[in-house]
Amino acid sequence: MPNTAIYPGSFDPLTNGHLDVLERAAALFSKVILAVAHHTDKDSLFTIPERVLIARESVRHLSNVEVDDFQTLLVDYARQKGARVIVRGLRAVSDFELEFQMALMNRTLAPQVETIFLMPKDSYSYLSSRIIKRIAFLGGDISSFVPAYVEKNLKKKYAKPA
Ligand code: ADP
Repeated sequence: MPNTAIYPGSFDPLTNGHLDVLERAAALFSKVILAVAHHTDKDSLFTIPERVLIARESVRHLSNVEVDDFQTLLVDYARQKGARVIVRGLRAVSDFELEFQMALMNRTLAPQVETIFLMPKDSYSYLSSRIIKRIAFLGGDISSFVPAYVEKNLKKKYAKPA
C-alpha cells in the first residue's frame, strides 16, 4: 500500500517555500500529490491549468510527486486518492489560527485523515505567492524566491505591451 500524502493549496504560483515543504514531504511519504484547489474566493493570477503546468514543470526532480487539481471537499479528494495524510506548511504564528481551524474541521469530517504541518527553511518563511506577485508586477528580482519556470511565467504575465 503506498503511503500517500496530499499537499493542497492555491499555488498561484508555486514558490520556493512550497517547494521546500514538498521536498520535505517527498522524503517522508512514498507518494505525494500536490493538489491545486479550485477556490472561488481568492483572486487568482494564473488559471488552474496554468498552475498545474507550472507546478509540474517545477517538481520534475521529485520522482514520487504528482501534480493534480481538485474541485471537491479536500477530505473527499484525499479518500478518493487513498491518502491518509494532508500536508500543510506553517510559516509563522500568523498561519496557525486558520490552519488549526481547517485541520480540526477536516478531522471532524474525516477522522481517518490526519493533517501534518511542515516548516520550511527559515529563509523561506516570509515567502508567499501574494508577495511574489507584487514584486514581479513592480519589476523586482524574484529569481531567488521561485523556480526558474515560475519566474519566466510571471514575467510573461506581467509583460508590458510594446
Ligand atoms: P492556500 O490558499 O491553501 O493557503 P497557498 O498556495 O497559499 O494555498 O499555500 C499552500 C500551503 O503552503 C499552505 O499550507 C501554506 O501555509 C503553505 N505555504 C505557503 N507559502 C509557504 C512558504 N513560504 N513556506 C512554507 N509553507 C508555505
